[in-house]
Amino acid sequence: MAILRIEGAEIITMAGEVRVESGWTLEAVDGAISYVGPADELQPAGEPDELIDGSGCLLLPGLINAHTHAAMTLFRGAADDMPLDPWLREKIWPVEARLSEDDIYWGTMLGIAEMVRAGVTCFNDMYHQPRVGTRAAEDAGMRMCPSGVLLGILPTAEDMLADAIEFTREYAGREDCCIHPMLAPHAPYTCPREMLERVIAAALDLGVPIHIHLAETDENVRWAMANYGRRPVQAMDEVGLFDAQVLAAHCVHLDAWDIEIVTERAVGVAHCPGSNLKLASGMAPAHALLQAGALVGLGTDGCGSNNNLDLLEEARLAALIAKVREDDPTAVAAGAALRMATIGGAHALHLGETIGSLEAGKRCDCILVDLQAPHLQPHHSLVSHLVYAAQPGDVCTTIVDGRVLMRDRELLTIDLDETIARVSESAARLFD
Ligand SMILES: [Zn+2]
Repeated sequence: MAILRIEGAEIITMAGEVRVESGWTLEAVDGAISYVGPADELQPAGEPDELIDGSGCLLLPGLINAHTHAAMTLFRGAADDMPLDPWLREKIWPVEARLSEDDIYWGTMLGIAEMVRAGVTCFNDMYHQPRVGTRAAEDAGMRMCPSGVLLGILPTAEDMLADAIEFTREYAGREDCCIHPMLAPHAPYTCPREMLERVIAAALDLGVPIHIHLAETDENVRWAMANYGRRPVQAMDEVGLFDAQVLAAHCVHLDAWDIEIVTERAVGVAHCPGSNLKLASGMAPAHALLQAGALVGLGTDGCGSNNNLDLLEEARLAALIAKVREDDPTAVAAGAALRMATIGGAHALHLGETIGSLEAGKRCDCILVDLQAPHLQPHHSLVSHLVYAAQPGDVCTTIVDGRVLMRDRELLTIDLDETIARVSESAARLFD
């Protein structure tokens, strides 16, 4: 039995109302939270193997990156300030065709290092060769929802699908690890209907969610109207996509009916404001989705279109953009943004029973944020500070499944020097 105890921190549990508790303690046994509450009411499970003094810090659930392509750290800064379509076709896909296993492993590891340092404890990843990225996550002790990207327009589509299903089967339903697989048809415009139908059948058979890009750009809407006679969300509803659990990334271009479908069919949405701004995709109706009761989380998207994996920044952008989009400074308040970054993301990934809040019975994924920095003074509202003022460097401790991955800003499971050296080698070769 391994006991972890965190004492002395201010705590935001994200269970129910967003508020700060003082004088509370958290205890976890074998990676599961066993107690969160007043320190003097704790009935200790025993002597803690790991005792963390959280004085001067804020303890909260780990941040959840609901949509990314972690290995695309390799592409950071390689091609900026371009429209999405030529960016993918001319700059990204030709280089991706040459990626080796080592490139993907170390690119993913760099992404994980960046995320652990920024307080992310779970990431939803769509990429090539999912076994390789998953190995990086397992080596680092990170929680991951991996999926092999399916591009139905490629001649290798059949092999990709067979391999993705086989990979998913290896992890589906396993409760002994932090890997939660999905199936990932890239997008409606890259996956023919026949392939989507097979993916849906496989997802229902395996009991795993589907991860897809949906309604990201105006062009996506025009394509769906031309090919399905409907807007993207309505087209996918008609295909039967939402019979399975779905995490739809972006959802920028939604009308009122789309929002109704997304909400009623419990489609998880990964709102990616940084990527949407950089690629000029538009401003997603996050406020309307939240008002409707949709399951909305936040994603960074890949480093080619962001260019970082900082989920606090996404929370801040989500709050700021909603105000401009709605012409209303009360839209997506700090608490709503923090909810999207934590429990909202968990629900969007269909992992709301497992992670996303600090409650007895859930897995112990949490972070400590150091409150001493000048930009976090004075302490009028710690929720406001997290969303509007905090930086990744304020995160000092990151814990996944009860295991400390970073303590006092020191990475314990990742060799950062080696990771940077390996990624530099890969980048030099790939972009020669
Ligand atoms: Zn993406």
